[in-house]
Amino acid sequence: MEMENENAIKQQAPRPKYDCLLFDLDDTLYPLNSGLAHEIVQNIQDYMVEKLGIEPSKTEELTNLVYNNYGTTIAGLRAIGYAFDYEEYYSFIHGKLPYENLKPDPVLRNLLLSLPYRKLIFTNADKVHAIKALKRLGLEDCFEGIICFETLNPVHKSTVSGDEDDTEFVGSKGTQATPANGGKSSEIFDIIEHFAQSDPTTELPKTPIICKPSEHAFKLTLKLANLNPPRTLFFDDSVRNIQAAKRVGLHTALVGTSHRVKGADFAVESIHNLKEALPELWETEIKPQVAIPGTGTETEKLAVETPVIA
Ligand SMILES: [Mg+2]
Repeated sequence: MEMENENAIKQQAPRPKYDCLLFDLDDTLYPLNSGLAHEIVQNIQDYMVEKLGIEPSKTEELTNLVYNNYGTTIAGLRAIGYAFDYEEYYSFIHGKLPYENLKPDPVLRNLLLSLPYRKLIFTNADKVHAIKALKRLGLEDCFEGIICFETLNPVHKSTVSGDEDDTEFVGSKGTQATPANGGKSSEIFDIIEHFAQSDPTTELPKTPIICKPSEHAFKLTLKLANLNPPRTLFFDDSVRNIQAAKRVGLHTALVGTSHRVKGADFAVESIHNLKEALPELWETEIKPQVAIPGTGTETEKLAVETPVIA
């Protein structure tokens, strides 16, 4: 009889809907108005001129075209034929950022720490930037790991293949091979010209770089972090990233707007509104809804001790 009662409680205890919360970093864990995103765009255009010898008049259009077609500028520039040192690229575009605009965020920190799930960062940015930004926000210890540029694009190709035990998300050290000809490979695909044609006959070149919003980037991340898509909730401020995540079967929350778009299960105007927008995230701690008079404390204890399935 007592056993039956126990089983009844277990069956009715709410099971957490998710195992893991996967967070984008930039403009998701801190707001767009910090000004970093704007500076990054400017720095990318400066890099194009100073390091790749691209005409200043073309950088804006080029940035838009590669970004729209390849997910990140670095992926697009590589696709159309520019070869450069990734570490140098990132230190150029992130090195001068106004990191002082990112302030410690104890409110978000407490929110994150109160969520009983695995929590990971999934960013297209490099490791140095991700760690620096998380430290400025005071969130560096809120996450199990960081999946960043280096994680999905390891320098030594030999380490890419099938090392399933490599769960050290913060990427390995190393430098990309320096281009032999000063940053410009022999043939640059003219993407501006390509899109100027009314009916482009050529195909866009492929990029060797893996980044959001490619489905491959999501699948690799899921594999590396051992995540089950329907048990994972993904947060990002980018609609196309959210839609890619949805295609690979993740639950999705678009951050930075209250307007829910196609592919987004939730819309969260600010990450600080998490509790209002997604109260269900905390409901896993709710005691089993079984009326047993006088056992409130015990049932609470039971719920708290229930491990999150990893
Ligand atoms: Mg973002």
